Amino acid sequence: MIFNKYIKINYKRYLLYLIRWQLSTPILAIVPIALHLTDFWTAAFIANIIGGLLFFWVDNFIFTSKDLTTQWEVVENIQCSDCGNVARGYRLVKSSNYDKVKDSEPKFRCENCSINKSNELRKEGVEV
Ligand SMILES: [Zn+2]
Repeated sequence: MIFNKYIKINYKRYLLYLIRWQLSTPILAIVPIALHLTDFWTAAFIANIIGGLLFFWVDNFIFTSKDLTTQWEVVENIQCSDCGNVARGYRLVKSSNYDKVKDSEPKFRCENCSINKSNELRKEGVEV
């Protein structure tokens, strides 16, 4: 898809951000009722201040959390690059201090070998 060539999207962050946007809708709906406001602009102004106070912290988490940076790729029926077994294969694609996004020959590992590799990477200081 052409879109992916130009913009790197962290889909976990994107999904959380879309869900977070949906949470702003109830605030816009509830504030005028709760405060008995009939003027649309006053109600929207107050609702947006309340939303901003809440969602600043949610957005801050979404865009800075290291947990959301970690991306794995999972492929079915692939030969493990360590033990040679054919199984579901895992590879760490990206974390806050590890980047194999442009790896031209990605290595996948079975679950057990992936756990061992993850432990090795942790010893090297990679955040897995
Ligand atoms: Zn293996």
